[in-house]
Amino acid sequence: MPHVVVIGAGIVGAATAVELLRDGHQVTILEPGEPGGEQSASYGNGTQLNPSSVIPMTAPGVWRKVPGWLADPLGPLAIRWSYLPALLPWLMRFLRAGATEERVAATARALRPLLLDAPERHRRLADEAGVSELITRQGVLYVFPTRVDFEAEELAWRIRRENGVRWLELSDDELRQREPSLSRRYTFGLLVEENGQCRDPGAYVAALVQHAVAQGATLRQEKAVGFRVEGRRLQAVRTPSGEIPADRAVIAAGAWSHTLAASVGDRVPLETERGYHVVITDPDIEPRYPISPSDGKMACVMTPQGLRLAGQVELAGLPAAPNWRRADVLRDFARRVFPDLPADLPASKVKLWMGHRPSTPDGLPCIGPASGCPDVIHAFGHGHVGLTAGATTGRLAADLVSGRQPEINLSPYSAARF
Ligand SMILES: Cc1cc2nc3c(=O)[nH]c(=O)nc-3n(C[C@H](O)[C@H](O)[C@H](O)COP(=O)(O)OP(=O)(O)OC[C@H]3O[C@@H](n4cnc5c(N)ncnc54)[C@H](O)[C@@H]3O)c2cc1C
Repeated sequence: MPHVVVIGAGIVGAATAVELLRDGHQVTILEPGEPGGEQSASYGNGTQLNPSSVIPMTAPGVWRKVPGWLADPLGPLAIRWSYLPALLPWLMRFLRAGATEERVAATARALRPLLLDAPERHRRLADEAGVSELITRQGVLYVFPTRVDFEAEELAWRIRRENGVRWLELSDDELRQREPSLSRRYTFGLLVEENGQCRDPGAYVAALVQHAVAQGATLRQEKAVGFRVEGRRLQAVRTPSGEIPADRAVIAAGAWSHTLAASVGDRVPLETERGYHVVITDPDIEPRYPISPSDGKMACVMTPQGLRLAGQVELAGLPAAPNWRRADVLRDFARRVFPDLPADLPASKVKLWMGHRPSTPDGLPCIGPASGCPDVIHAFGHGHVGLTAGATTGRLAADLVSGRQPEINLSPYSAARF
């Protein structure tokens, strides 16, 4: 039985481990933190499982707004200027990738199969792990101050429609009926019914890993530092405590994957798009739907811990300390979305988090065999859509390990594109 080492226990590593066990492999999971713990992006994200999220951050309509966002202290984007020299090559590629409508449309076409059916795929995984209640499928509500604001995003919604995304348009009154907690400043909405939610992604990932261990996987609390490769064949995964003999390995270490990928021949420009969340316990309101306000660029969602407000993109690198002002922005903005949210929240009711989206400049992940050693499979770089794409990516990684034809064309995700 081939021994496969899965590196990282965020959603991608956890789903990969479950799929590998289904195929009958012997599996070891390496994770220096807790599976689905606070160190991982999978813990603190916006919880949305959105097959509709096919528009990359690089879309022309998006990056044209960048100067305005940077100038606005309440805006959704921040760059730590001391980090700019290191960031510049990634930023240039990022801008190029979104320079034309054709490129954005190509990215959307490449992302759609990876996201399609995500709520259903996650539901099946959650059922297996005994946490079905964590996956819900009520749709996601996109709200706009006016219809004109929706029309200003015409390109993005047109490309979504071309990729099969459908929605219900909601008038002012219909919005109010569906979502009484919403501020009256939002007068137009879209309900994308195919989207879903994982109510507690950290608990979900932990449950998947627990399930994998119950199925025979070994969980080791340490990190991978490299590989021993002889004649392009993997011999072992190296850790600070020694070598783990392995026939195959899957790199699913999120924003930390690039150094491992480089050691097997692929130099991937992977950047952290740092994001934040605020969780307010007992918030006095309970939105029925996950809500994305167009002007806030954030997710407002109910979780078992309370109301979670997740968003922000901060480009500042992996080691920099969090700037909690970015989380305050989310909390302040939420009062524009939910007028009944208390203004003065005691510190005991508010929990803040910062995490690292693993982002390539073109908005597509790397999924496929490493150039220098095909026994090592890349499964990282999912940026803003990794929770959604995690279930399918796990299946694809297992297909590659097992030598099966993957169910979707993987060429857009090749690390060699860089
Ligand atoms: C604020 C915010 C909101 C978001 N909202 C959404 C959303 O609503 N929907 C959505 O689909 N996506 C969303 N995302 C993106 C999503 O969270 C990520 O794309 C996804 O969680 C990435 O999963 P991952 O498993 O690749 O990485 P991670 O979850 O980061 O896991 C990687 C794991 O690898 C471990 N690791 C690191 N180095 C090593 C090593 N050397 N050896 C072994 N292990 C290692 C880490 O400790 C970590 O646990 C959001 C992200 C953020 C930050």
